[in-house]
Amino acid sequence: MHAATRHALFRRLREANPEPRSELEYTTPFELLVAVMLSAHTTDKSVNAATGKLFPIANTPRALVDLGVEGVKPYLRSVGLYNTKSRNLIGLSRQILEHHGGQVPHDRAALEALPGVGRKTANIILNIVFGQAEIAVDTHIFRVANRTGLAPGRTPLEVERALTRNTPEPFRRDAHHWLLLHGRYVCTARAPHCASCILRDLCEYPQPSGATKPAGTRPRRSARRGGG
Ligand code: SF4
Repeated sequence: MHAATRHALFRRLREANPEPRSELEYTTPFELLVAVMLSAHTTDKSVNAATGKLFPIANTPRALVDLGVEGVKPYLRSVGLYNTKSRNLIGLSRQILEHHGGQVPHDRAALEALPGVGRKTANIILNIVFGQAEIAVDTHIFRVANRTGLAPGRTPLEVERALTRNTPEPFRRDAHHWLLLHGRYVCTARAPHCASCILRDLCEYPQPSGATKPAGTRPRRSARRGGG
């Protein structure tokens, strides 16, 4: 995709949604970290339902450690993999208390050392909480980046690197949210809404039916495993 086209694509996304926001509900950096960690392999809606009950009871590392693994399980039953996520949540809280003074760490290595936290979650925290121009690549962003031709790649990491390279500076901070929301609601996995898509004339996906799926619209299986 030509640089001018990339610029036009992001300009349209910005015009349509000047201040994109996460659909996860949170009020503190720690709550966001917990919500993102819990969102692996489930929907934001089910995470919000769980944290809506959990956070009024415990929304700090200290309170969660006090609650313990068995204490958080009843709140996490709706998010899937709740046994693992409960253990990770308490381990993450303990590590933040013991090594980071109870605060969410602001460097990638420390974030990725937390239980249940992978590169994607670290990028989201670095982007939203600490204002760094990191672009987390989830399944929606992977799909949109490949279909449009914006940042083709065979793995999430390849797409992340291409997006980091190809996203014009003014759009880097919000690129993650624009592409995620576009993938979630317009450029959907099975039947993209090309006819009403604001990017249609810029997009390299075969038109008009969208029935012919180009190679590389899903990450390789091995690249999709692992924690958020
Ligand atoms: S035109 Fe279709 S394939 Fe391209 S971004 Fe829009 S919905 Fe996705």
